[in-house]
Amino acid sequence: MRGVRAFEPLLAALAALATAAAAQEDGAPPSRIAVVGAGIGGSATARFLRQHFGPDVQLDVYEKGEVGGRLATVTVNRNRYESGASIIHALNLHMHDFVKQLGLKQRRSVAGKTAVFDGASVVAEETDWYLLDLLRLWWRYGSSFIRLQMWLEEIMEKFIRIYKYQAHGFAFGSLEELLESLGGSGFVNMTRRPLSDSLLELGVSQRFIDEVVAPVIRLNYGQNVSVPAFVGAVSLASAQSNLWAVEGGNKLLCEGLLKSANANLLRARVTSVRTLRSGGALRYELGLAGEGPERRTAAYDAVVVAAPLRAGADISFPDWASPAVPGEGEWQSTVVTLVHGYLNTSLFGFRDPRLFPYAGVLTTAAPALFFNSVAGVYPVEVPPGFRRKRAHEAAVYKVFSPAVLTGEQLKTLFRSYYSAQATEWRAYPRYGSAAGATLPPVELGPHLYYLNGIEWAGSAMEMSAVAAKNIALLAYRRWNGRSLRVNREDLLRAIKTEL
Ligand SMILES: Cc1cc2nc3c(=O)[nH]c(=O)nc-3n(C[C@H](O)[C@H](O)[C@H](O)COP(=O)(O)OP(=O)(O)OC[C@H]3O[C@@H](n4cnc5c(N)ncnc54)[C@H](O)[C@@H]3O)c2cc1C
Repeated sequence: MRGVRAFEPLLAALAALATAAAAQEDGAPPSRIAVVGAGIGGSATARFLRQHFGPDVQLDVYEKGEVGGRLATVTVNRNRYESGASIIHALNLHMHDFVKQLGLKQRRSVAGKTAVFDGASVVAEETDWYLLDLLRLWWRYGSSFIRLQMWLEEIMEKFIRIYKYQAHGFAFGSLEELLESLGGSGFVNMTRRPLSDSLLELGVSQRFIDEVVAPVIRLNYGQNVSVPAFVGAVSLASAQSNLWAVEGGNKLLCEGLLKSANANLLRARVTSVRTLRSGGALRYELGLAGEGPERRTAAYDAVVVAAPLRAGADISFPDWASPAVPGEGEWQSTVVTLVHGYLNTSLFGFRDPRLFPYAGVLTTAAPALFFNSVAGVYPVEVPPGFRRKRAHEAAVYKVFSPAVLTGEQLKTLFRSYYSAQATEWRAYPRYGSAAGATLPPVELGPHLYYLNGIEWAGSAMEMSAVAAKNIALLAYRRWNGRSLRVNREDLLRAIKTEL
């Protein structure tokens, strides 16, 4: 079972506190808000909170590790490479805005072809000719490619409505309501239904699912086509063209957002969130890890948890009955290894590396395969005149695998190598088949918000940014007792009336 139902006892316990959720009667702005986590979700939340609540509120962001979270770089051979989230879709408008507002630059992409390997041979490949690719796709998979493309376009067209709603100040108290406003009950069902079922129903062939769709899901989420259709669509959208990244590294976004929010970055691990009641007001204090007994912070008017909650890990909520959250086992581990060396192209049927035409190789779900993908990568600062290395030259490759690669496996994949650096990520939810499961709550209590539930719909930088904007809007409206723009049903009509 997807662990999100485990939130229900927590919500029941909090219902008793709900009366305290009333707006602040004196109309004063909150004096202090805490954000837990300085990944893209927490940093974006800080910036949006500043925009909505103005200059006077004190914003404290707690971070136990590095600013950026799953946006991180690793240095190989004197250059830095993305080891976490690396690509951003052209339609990710919050990311576009951040780059523009922070004075950052988009990094150019260096073209390269991709192939799909089934453990024995290459079963699908890109060529230099778009038309030839189309003809080949048609010959091998019939109309599957076109059907998938049309499905994705329809989903994206609906998804981008979120930017209009957020620009008009609409907020949603639950992820289901947010998704429903964009794509009706169809979007909500897509979070509960396996991708493979949705695609087969569309008329996409099983062969196309096995040879094209499954390798993309393995690359992006290390999982198979039983992931829910919504996260499947997020993943497949990332296989389209027009992808970009931030020059200098994606984590520059987080640093810039925190700075522009004028937030206080506090290096500490939050261990608990406790409620404090004085008079009629409800506030929160955080417990912090350190030497000796747990330290306590001063009181906060609102708290945003922008880090994945897992049962038995990190943050407890001692005042609440059974604050159960998804278990550790419900997060997928993914290992990213950056290898500087010579790819063993004969593994893919090319004895002469000079003839190997691909920049990257994805894999099907063949049981014997120990890696999900391998691709030549370029540094976060692309030097002028940079060209992608050919396979007979030493180059830097990124390998995704479900477990740390053994020496033997590295020797299978590389003829020889100078260095191999592995980063083990607790990467994203393990989606499972997700049948019938509900999504985690956005509101854990009065003025207490949870951002990373959105990852159960789809884990991506832009999804965290969308959740951040929603929480900032929601927090503002809840604080001021304005529910007018929360959960309004006919948003499109409402917006048209206003325009
Ligand atoms: C290998 C990999 C590749 C990916 N590729 C892409 C991609 O190409 N494109 C894309 O869009 N997405 C990608 N993703 C997904 C993307 O990284 C995440 O969806 C996104 O970064 C989540 O951001 P976040 O801020 O919500 O969470 P996080 O980045 O996890 O940030 C949470 C922060 O909270 C901190 N924290 C946790 N607990 C505590 C505590 N108790 N006290 C204080 N601080 C705490 C953590 O240290 C962390 O910094 C990838 C993820 C991985 C792992």
